[in-house]
Formats: sequence, structure tokens, C-alpha cells
Amino acid sequence: MEKSNKKLGIALLGLGKYATEQLAPALQQTNHCYLAAIVTGDDNKAKQWKEKYKLDEQCVYDYDNFDTIRANPAVDIVYIVTPNALHADFVVRAAKAGKHVICEKPMATTLEDCDRMIEACKNNGVTLSVGYRLHFEPYNQEMMRLGNTHKLGYVQQLIARDGIEGASGWRLDPLLAGKGGPLMDLGIYCMQASNYVYNMSPIAVTAQQAGQTVSFQLEYPGGFTSDCCCSFSNKMNYLHAAANNGWFELKPAFGYAGIKGKTSIGELHFDQVNQQALEMDTISKAILLGEPTPVPGEMGRDDVVILLAINEALESGARILLHPANRQSATTETGGVINGAFFTVEE
Ligand code: NDP
Repeated sequence: MEKSNKKLGIALLGLGKYATEQLAPALQQTNHCYLAAIVTGDDNKAKQWKEKYKLDEQCVYDYDNFDTIRANPAVDIVYIVTPNALHADFVVRAAKAGKHVICEKPMATTLEDCDRMIEACKNNGVTLSVGYRLHFEPYNQEMMRLGNTHKLGYVQQLIARDGIEGASGWRLDPLLAGKGGPLMDLGIYCMQASNYVYNMSPIAVTAQQAGQTVSFQLEYPGGFTSDCCCSFSNKMNYLHAAANNGWFELKPAFGYAGIKGKTSIGELHFDQVNQQALEMDTISKAILLGEPTPVPGEMGRDDVVILLAINEALESGARILLHPANRQSATTETGGVINGAFFTVEE
């Protein structure tokens, strides 16, 4: 293994709630990476974090001098944890500084941003990963396994729900969060879970909005469906898969801890893990071994295409057709390019 004893240094960029309450504590439990630096626009946070995590002065950056991180050998990865629409610029700057990147979900709010993030990382020879923590969580992994191996038969229908009571700040600002109310923030979990249980991408979407709640329906090849709902006003957290020889479900499904699961043949029991520590360790290990990241930018981009299509369905009231096979290579053969994404409004 390349650099076998080396732990990769992570710089957290954007010291808000998620970085403060989840990522920094998780970095105290990681084996293959550690908190090496911070990037913040807030002088008070800079001072507090520097003291709390015993960081050297040269490992504390603001958004203006961030590009000088290039010269800091202690930093291998920059983890972008800002509001969604701000991810892209920081990812491009981190890539140009020669650092690997982890970007929080959703990767971006436009397809153009996804493309320039992927391109910048490719051009600079660095890895781009998306902070999809549930890919490393044992109960969600079991949902993937049951769905993909057909242990309880073929999944025919999914139900996915993710909602919180009350959102504030930039999450309510479409310019920073992306359009579609709770879609970008929470709907992404329902959509991702549907995709990883079916191991497919949807071919058509419909959607409806009532206040701060968005319902959307995903249609997959073979006539399989997923009934999804996300909300900023209704607390819910649930994943249920109905297969032709049984069922399996998680409740809660998508939280940081306390996930519980059962199936038609019994309860599921897995260790509770620190999802963020596992996520950062797995990504770091992949980088150290020169292996591909399990949660690449291309996955984040495909998800943004679907989210944009769901938003298009919301705004137009129409059923939107997706062309998954063509998502990485632009095509207009079956229709137009709407909002820069590869889907069409059904005639
Ligand atoms: P917060 O609002 O708590 O923090 C965002 C931070 O971004 C701010 O504290 C600030 O850091 C920085 N920032 C830079 N520019 C701006 C700006 N114009 N407006 C607001 N903040 C700015 O958000 P969260 O920590 O909850 O979310 C950040 C990202 O993480 C989002 O993309 C979100 O979707 C994702 N997330 C992912 C979760 C997961 O489970 N994977 C869970 C929660 C969030 P500073 O003061 O240091 O400059």
C-alpha cells in the first residue's frame, strides 16, 4: 500500500452545524485521516477551533487565502461543507490547489456546476467524492444487499420518507439550497435509497408540492416504482421495500444514529457505527491505495440530474422522462435538454 502508515490530512471548509457537530468529532475517531486544517469566514470560529483541535496557525485559512493551501503538505483532502450552491467554486479551487476533495450532498444545484467540479478534479489528478454517509452504514448496506441480491424476491415497490419539522436560513433560499423546497436537502435521501435498493436509475418522475412537503414518484425499468416524500414541516424517516417473497424496512432509515431495521423474516441487528468516520476513512483508504472512491462525483452528478428532473416535474406538473443511459454523454435524440439536464417533458 502506498504511504501505508500515512494518515491523510483533511481540511474542513465551512464550519457550520454539520462540520462542527458531526465531521470534526468523527475525525477524532478515524484511522486513515485526521483533522489537519480549517477554512472559515468567521474569525471567532477560527480561534475556537484552533484552540480546541490544537491546529497550527498555518493550518487556519479564510476564504480569501484558501488557495495558498496548495503549499501545505499537511492537507491531502479538502472537505466542502458550505451551502449547496457554494460547493462548486470551492471544489474547483481545492482541485486547482492539488487537493483531493470530498463535497457534501447535494453535490451542486446545477448540472453545469457538477460538470466543472468533475472536470477540475480530473484535470488536476485528484479524487472527487460526495459525502454520502449512508453508503457506509450497515443497515442501509443491508437494504442494498437485500435489494440487489433478491434474497426476498424482486423488489416491486419502495416507500421512502424523510422529513424534519422546521428548516431555516439558507435551506429556504433557492439560490443557495437549490429549487424544490426540501428536495435537495432531504429528497435526495429518498431518491438515493430507491436507487441503491433497486440498483437502477429511474426512467420517469412525477412530483407534487403541498406547502413545505414534496411528494415524488420514481419509475424504474420493468414497471417498478418508488413512492417518495420529503418535508420541512413533517417529521418522518422511513424506508420500506415490498418484494415478491417478503419485505424489508428501516425506521428510522436515514439519521446519523439509531437506525433500526426489520424484514418479513425477522429483525435486523447491526452495530451502530459512526457513519461520518467510516465515510472519511473509506474514502481516505481508497486514495491511499490508489483505488476509485466508492462515492464519486459522477454519482453525485447523476443524482443532481434526477433531482432537477423532479423539480421540473414539480414546476410543470408533467411526467418527466429521464434518459439514464445517456446521462454522462449528452444526447438530445429523444428530446430536448431542459435546464441543462438530460430529461424530457412527456408530450
Ligand atoms: P450550516 O448553515 O450550519 O453551515 C454552513 C457553513 O458554510 C457556515 O457556517 C459557513 O461557515 C459556511 N458558509 C460560507 N458561505 C456561506 C453563506 N453564504 N451562507 C451560509 N454559510 C456559509 O449548514 P450545514 O452545516 O447544515 O450544511 C452544510 C452542507 O452540508 C450542506 O451542503 C448540507 O446539505 C450538508 N449536510 C450534509 C449532511 C449529511 O448528513 N451528509 C447533514 C447536514 C448538512 P463559516 O462560518 O465557517 O464560514
